[in-house]
Amino acid sequence: MLELHQVEVAYNKTATAVRGVSMHAEQGKITTLLGTNGAGKTTTLTAISGFIGMENADVVGGEIVYKGRRLNRLAPHRVSRLGIALVPERDKVFDTLTVTDNIKLTAGSAGKARAVYEEFPRLGELAGRTAGYLSGGEKQLLALAMALVTEPEVLLVDELSLGLAPRVTSDLLGELQRVQRERGLTVLLVEQNAAAALAVADYGYVMEDGRLVHDGTPEALLSHGDIMEFYLGTG
Ligand code: ATP
Repeated sequence: MLELHQVEVAYNKTATAVRGVSMHAEQGKITTLLGTNGAGKTTTLTAISGFIGMENADVVGGEIVYKGRRLNRLAPHRVSRLGIALVPERDKVFDTLTVTDNIKLTAGSAGKARAVYEEFPRLGELAGRTAGYLSGGEKQLLALAMALVTEPEVLLVDELSLGLAPRVTSDLLGELQRVQRERGLTVLLVEQNAAAALAVADYGYVMEDGRLVHDGTPEALLSHGDIMEFYLGTG
């Protein structure tokens, strides 16, 4: 489905942040990419989504392939037209607009925007609220809905847990999993919170210093004492 073969990404032509990453996100499943701060997870997602070009960075090696098509160096709008949507780590909602107006921005039509509230009743209750006044978890839910309303085949999600309490993170990832299962979506979920991500994922990869160091099912990763000690602070 979505495959990375020996992908290398460098900032300013020199600083290599992703070093020979090979992985794949299986169709209709949640694949999570875990790792500590600075491991290269965000860089990997921005390389897939095409936004990497705006970061003064480039895919300098390897191949990113979606349904047999090479994505390397494709502009973000072209990647999005192929059905791949990104929920970015930061600056994902417009604080001065209402929830509905945020959704309309990506929905293209009011009808589609209304359908989002059937999928996320909680957002429906907040429809007229200015996005800047939402809680952290509500903002993340809005960001998720803004991406989902474009009806992507693949959703790339960057660090939904950023700044959220563990309980809020679990609820949010639970919502993501529910919609993913209902729609049969393919999800690539970048997370620092390994426990929360592995609770909803079908498969996981662990990244360290630009390289993949482990991969496996959630059960396998969770039973690997060293990994969990390192990433969760538990043995
Ligand atoms: P985080 O959770 O903090 O976002 P991450 O695993 O997503 O961590 P990246 O943000 O991809 O990691 O960063 C990987 C490496 O690339 C780091 O060494 C970082 O300093 C570097 N890097 C990230 N963004 C830039 C940039 N715009 N210019 C130069 N180097 C960058």
